[in-house]
Amino acid sequence: MSSPFKTAALHTLGCKVNFTETSMIAKQFQEDGLSLVSIDQFADIYVLNTCSVTENANIKCNRLVKKLKRINPNAFIVITGCYAQLKSDELSKNNDIDLVVGSESKLNIPEIIKKEMNSKLVTSKFDSIESFSLSYSSGDRVRSFIKVQDGCDYNCTFCTIPLARGKSRSSKISEIVDVVNSLDRKGYKEVVLSGINLGDFGNGSNQNCFQLFQEIEKSTSIPRIRISSIEPNLLSDNIINLIASSKRFMPHFHIPLQSGSDRILKLMKRKYNVRFYSNKINKIKSIIPNASIGVDVIVGFPTETDDEFNETYNLLSDLEVSYLHVFTYSERENTIAINLKPKVAQEVRNTRSKKLRALSEYLKSQFIIKNMNTNHTILVEGVHDNVLHGYTENYIKFHVNSNQMKINDLVNVKPLDSSYGTITGKTV
Ligand code: SF4
Repeated sequence: MSSPFKTAALHTLGCKVNFTETSMIAKQFQEDGLSLVSIDQFADIYVLNTCSVTENANIKCNRLVKKLKRINPNAFIVITGCYAQLKSDELSKNNDIDLVVGSESKLNIPEIIKKEMNSKLVTSKFDSIESFSLSYSSGDRVRSFIKVQDGCDYNCTFCTIPLARGKSRSSKISEIVDVVNSLDRKGYKEVVLSGINLGDFGNGSNQNCFQLFQEIEKSTSIPRIRISSIEPNLLSDNIINLIASSKRFMPHFHIPLQSGSDRILKLMKRKYNVRFYSNKINKIKSIIPNASIGVDVIVGFPTETDDEFNETYNLLSDLEVSYLHVFTYSERENTIAINLKPKVAQEVRNTRSKKLRALSEYLKSQFIIKNMNTNHTILVEGVHDNVLHGYTENYIKFHVNSNQMKINDLVNVKPLDSSYGTITGKTV
């Protein structure tokens, strides 16, 4: 059956895993003969792949729906992703929304809309979500993101992701290796291995995350491989050593800390303490001195005192990390943390967030200073007024003036100057 629509626009809110899935849905629409347009343009159907990590993500989704209705009052609007899974009933009552699709059926959207629909709702209960679909982005950016794992069996008390994405499940190593090789043949120079809880890859099978990375190192030749966020307790010494010895795994880590106070980590039900985390960072820096390390941190978690916030601040000032992703705690329904008291006043949360964001800028600038005396290789991701931009191996944004290079080239560069978290340099 053919699709009732001619043009589609898709938009991702949230993480890289969502991004891979949006890209797959877009490919399916194209195979059905639809033309893709940007989310700001007039389209017959809009698909929003949503996030629900913070209250802000929900607000963004609702705002966008209103905006899309203004662009095309007759558009067919589909909401999928974590927000759709968690708030399906609420969303289905919104007259501007035509279809709400939960996590498990996300990649069936093009098929669902071809059929006669009796209901606006296509969702399954989170604890029965079992299927895994390997997805990867292509055509949208220079780097391709590959979802190798989905769902999470952890119970962090602030997090709704396990409720939205279900149990931890993964693809098979051989299938991922095939995808990496096929992206390599298509001309991609970098893949980013992503998951909701990447380090938990293979849980329930006889495969694990280290074996996945080992096999990719052995059986592929794509020039650059990056790993996305990985829990500190699952980042084994084997993985660190593999990345240290590899020429193709990039020296770039994203390791959530969430708090620098052991009491708060315990309340969050995180699976490590501050000493464990610090040792992990020190281990990485001792064998990969130029590694970039990004850190997730939450401020204003219920009961967090000024002293405990200062513990977090001081820890992050002392550790050799490169930048922070600061999240201001927001209450999420159906989590344990929502019932913890006393809550931290919103102004205090905001002030703490501001302090850590300023610290992040400082850490980034220090990391850049340390990288000014070495040459780097960048993968060119874009060009603006003859200035190319891309990221170094250790994830520093780099600008270079050149009319000989083009997007998707790997270019050797020398730093000359830096400002606002970016290095400017020349080709060598
Ligand atoms: S590890 Fe914790 S924060 Fe991350 S997805 Fe799982 S429950 Fe959420």
